[in-house]
Amino acid sequence: MKLLEGKTALIFGVANDHSIAWGIAETMHEEGAKVALSYASEALERRVRPLAESIGTSFVENCDVTNDEEIMSLFAKAETELGSIDILVHAIAFSNLDDMLGRFKDTSRDGFHLTMDISVYSFIALARNAATLMKPGGSMLTLTHYASLKVFPQYNVMGVAKAGLEASVRYLAVDLGQDGIRVNAISAGPIRTLAASGVPGFKRMYREFDKIAPLHENITKDDIGSAAAWLCSDKAAKTTGEVLYIDSGYNILGLSVPDELM
Ligand code: NAD
Repeated sequence: MKLLEGKTALIFGVANDHSIAWGIAETMHEEGAKVALSYASEALERRVRPLAESIGTSFVENCDVTNDEEIMSLFAKAETELGSIDILVHAIAFSNLDDMLGRFKDTSRDGFHLTMDISVYSFIALARNAATLMKPGGSMLTLTHYASLKVFPQYNVMGVAKAGLEASVRYLAVDLGQDGIRVNAISAGPIRTLAASGVPGFKRMYREFDKIAPLHENITKDDIGSAAAWLCSDKAAKTTGEVLYIDSGYNILGLSVPDELM
């Protein structure tokens, strides 16, 4: 019996085959789930549709998560075509480069709002709509980063957004717990993706990661896919409101271990 046999997963955030959302979609498909995909804009369709076809997905809809009407129309289609859903995956974030570069104190008001809207509020909006299609046993997942807790140079406003996202996971977990729905986050180590290429400090983070992390190994989207499949399966039935680190142990360190001690 596969982990997600009989479950339907609605996954937001596939931009291309490097996307974490795609790693999750592939693994959930391998684990027996019926997968439905949503992507941000029509410009991405030519990349996303062939990926969807490769795993037999027919529900492939664009939805800009800053737009409530687009969200409602997507969930109306999901209700008609999928009926109920068991899993929601939110792998979405965005910030203008200007608001991540430079000094944190210079974050613009508009840039702050946009970052919070796309990277935090969208999870609450998707969760609210998804909950109406979920039965008890449903599971929701978002993607976060350790910059929510510790300062990473030039992660800036996105670090604040990830802190807000993790707090939203806890509030949603309590709110939706009464409906038997679980809500969790995976905190991923650095993975080369489109969104990551827009983070000014990413190259340095990536370069130094496998030297510092206890397991000395970089993270792949498949590592995230496996953890996501478990977290959204009935095997994790009593886990909610958590942030699960898939980061080769990076977050446990207070200071990197010098070469002479290894
Ligand atoms: P990605 O670029 O493949 O995915 C980001 C997605 O957000 C894209 O599909 C993009 O289209 C979507 N998006 C942006 N604005 C949107 C909007 N208005 N409406 C709908 N969708 C929108 O990059 P990724 O690295 O796979 O990012 C997925 C998630 O993982 C993000 O939350 C990111 O912060 C998080 N994450 C990434 C890393 C990493 O190193 N790559 C590490 C930790 C957490």
